Amino acid sequence: MRRPLDVLAVSFDLDGTLYAGGRVLPGALAAVRSVVSAGMKALYLTNASGRTREEIRADLEEMGFPVGEQAVWTSATTTAAWLAQRAIGSVAMLGTQGLRIELEAVGMAVVGQADPCDALVVGLDRGFDFSRQRPIDDGLADRLGRVEALLVVCNRDDAFPGPDGNPQLGCGRLAALVEHQCGRKADAAPGKPQPDMLLDASAAHGMDPRRVLVVGDSAVSDAGMAHAAGAPCALVPASAALASSQAPETADAFIMPGIWALPELLGLDAVP
Ligand SMILES: [Mg+2]
Repeated sequence: MRRPLDVLAVSFDLDGTLYAGGRVLPGALAAVRSVVSAGMKALYLTNASGRTREEIRADLEEMGFPVGEQAVWTSATTTAAWLAQRAIGSVAMLGTQGLRIELEAVGMAVVGQADPCDALVVGLDRGFDFSRQRPIDDGLADRLGRVEALLVVCNRDDAFPGPDGNPQLGCGRLAALVEHQCGRKADAAPGKPQPDMLLDASAAHGMDPRRVLVVGDSAVSDAGMAHAAGAPCALVPASAALASSQAPETADAFIMPGIWALPELLGLDAVP
């Protein structure tokens, strides 16, 4: 028999877990509110790399989710922290203004592709034209190929749900194009399914990550992150379009019929 869950916080994935296609999923607000009412922290961990934490916080609050201090974490913030921990000072980037803001927030100098830099950071850029085979300047590709700079990608997701719910090409696809152009693999991809985001968020709140329940819809990225950090995991069914048959980390995950079932899993009172 399983031990009852004894957790200090719940880490919620966003797309496909709390909302989908711009709509809050049934029971999602009540699930998060019941967690907070019970004195646990609600954290929001997303592989999104194109938007800032503040933008995501504003969206969540508008939808009615309670968002505490240091509650929102993205693959961009975790990538920025990864670079800062390694004393990287200057980076070129492929991605959005949101990624630039997160990099500059940890003191990175964001430079042009022709300038000397310690690393290239690849994030999601919804405007990127995937028919381009050479996404970066040849000179930068040569320097990366000679390992004169690190190649760091925010995450390796092939796809993410677009506004209509249909999958769009993700950061992982852009990373693969850059790797092909440089002739080598990325040095790191700190987003999910790596444990870094959960470890960073747990450390910021002084919590043992093994006492944070990871709730998500991806057997690869969400369950993978939980598994790597030693945290418990509960999954809601993934949208068919994004579901993966490769699910090595789900053996020890709780499977829920929907996010509405979370309070019961945690033994919490329902909150309207
Ligand atoms: Mg998701």
